[in-house]
Amino acid sequence: MSREQQAVQQARKAFLTGRSKPLDYRIKQLQNLKQFIKEKTTDIANAMRKDLHKTANATQLFEILGLEGEINLAVSKLAEWAAARPVNKNLLTIADDVYIQPEPLGVVLVIGAWNYPIAVTLQPLVGAIAAGNAAVVKPSEVSSHTAKVMELLPLYLDPEMYKVVTGGVPETQELLRQRFDHIFYTGSSTVGKLVMEAAARHLTPVTLELGGKSPCYIDKNCDIRIACRRITWGKYMNCGQTCIAPDYILCESNIQDKVINEIQKCIQEFYTNDPKSFADYGRIINQRHFKRIMALTEGSTLAIGGDSDESECYIAPTVLRDVTPGSKVMQEEIFGPILPIVIVNGLKEAIQFINEREKPLALYIFSSSKKVIKQMISETSSGALVANDCLVHFTISDLPFGGVGNSGTGRYHGKYSFDQLSHLRSCLIKKLNMEGVNQMRYPPHTTEKLRWARVLLLKQVNLARWRQVAQVAVIAALAAFVVQRFLRR
Ligand code: NAD
Repeated sequence: MSREQQAVQQARKAFLTGRSKPLDYRIKQLQNLKQFIKEKTTDIANAMRKDLHKTANATQLFEILGLEGEINLAVSKLAEWAAARPVNKNLLTIADDVYIQPEPLGVVLVIGAWNYPIAVTLQPLVGAIAAGNAAVVKPSEVSSHTAKVMELLPLYLDPEMYKVVTGGVPETQELLRQRFDHIFYTGSSTVGKLVMEAAARHLTPVTLELGGKSPCYIDKNCDIRIACRRITWGKYMNCGQTCIAPDYILCESNIQDKVINEIQKCIQEFYTNDPKSFADYGRIINQRHFKRIMALTEGSTLAIGGDSDESECYIAPTVLRDVTPGSKVMQEEIFGPILPIVIVNGLKEAIQFINEREKPLALYIFSSSKKVIKQMISETSSGALVANDCLVHFTISDLPFGGVGNSGTGRYHGKYSFDQLSHLRSCLIKKLNMEGVNQMRYPPHTTEKLRWARVLLLKQVNLARWRQVAQVAVIAALAAFVVQRFLRR
């Protein structure tokens, strides 16, 4: 039996004991996960520096804070999320208990990516634990140092219920041959298809957190200086290796020079004149990606940057101007610090450009006009839309995070993670009395019965509203009674 098969079997055996169901157990595991990130802060920071040249503070800011927030939220809201959710009834079921009961799915496979290796691997795990599942966690082998730290997770969590399997493609493929109750994958769309194919063999549901090219439209009617500060931050953070980084800019030709000028100023302000020796500027994860990204710049005109050093996987913050839609850099997600500017003739053409391509994970628009923003929202589709900023939607736990179409399927963060990794079970509890009401559905199916069925089934009953009406009626009756007594005196 392979190591992967063993891990899944043990997790399933643990799940079948039922011990992950009580909320106290889940809360304890979530607290232990928090303990892990607290006690292993230094190990995580060192690993992250080796993998991606991230500083300890950047690791805290962009990996740990969000994860901590998700754990805190799940701990404080778990009782509410896990409780039965009453629903509206029809007249036929008015006397019954009708509700949704979230229940664990079983064993969840979490496959993480390397760019924010802690956040994209452990945030789905928070959802899996909160929802009462067992889990097998497969960190990305590409961020190998961070994966090594995650191997220590079972020292903190129930080691039979939560397994960490490290390794590369063969190990992931062996895992994917096993039967899971849900697969939560973060990574490229190409591998996402393989994951979905493997899952289909067992009819396992999937969440696919994928990537793609996220456009950024700059309207001429906006504060270009502020827009460029926010875009520069969103693009060059983690050396452009952020799934929701603005991939390319769309703008009119008459503002292109100003955009380039402002981005140049921001690069200098944020990363100095020498980003290579600046601590807060990252590195490309490995030489394969370095070569891939450098090749994408071929045939385009350089406006800013362009320096690189393969031995260090360093690529300077770079902007390309007057990029044509057919150029190499526009054929795939860049996932690096290269920012192409594509010229369009206004909003309508920008919308058409976006709609002719795959639905993006994020869509950014910078404009002072509410009308322009509203038009972009109503005439395009994307996982998320952010106006006048970049990336920040990721920080709001109440917003579902995920793609649409080629950028992914499913969503997570906060309660969405809990729901995504739960089965929302429909429950209807009837009593064995009042059999007369059921005559209508038993044969013979007469016209009279059909008439009653129409009334009883098509009429939705909003019990909360009924209760309100009843309360108002009682108050009115009381008031009438008091007034009458008062008048009689
Ligand atoms: P990666 O190479 O780390 O792959 C992700 C996972 O897939 C790894 O665990 C890896 O072992 C596994 N894998 C790779 N090839 C496989 C194969 N042939 N069969 C089975 N498993 C395989 O990461 P990546 O794909 O380079 O990640 C970058 C992509 O992820 C980008 O497109 C980015 O936009 C996307 N991403 C999306 C999100 C999101 O939340 N939507 C977050 C981070 C990254």
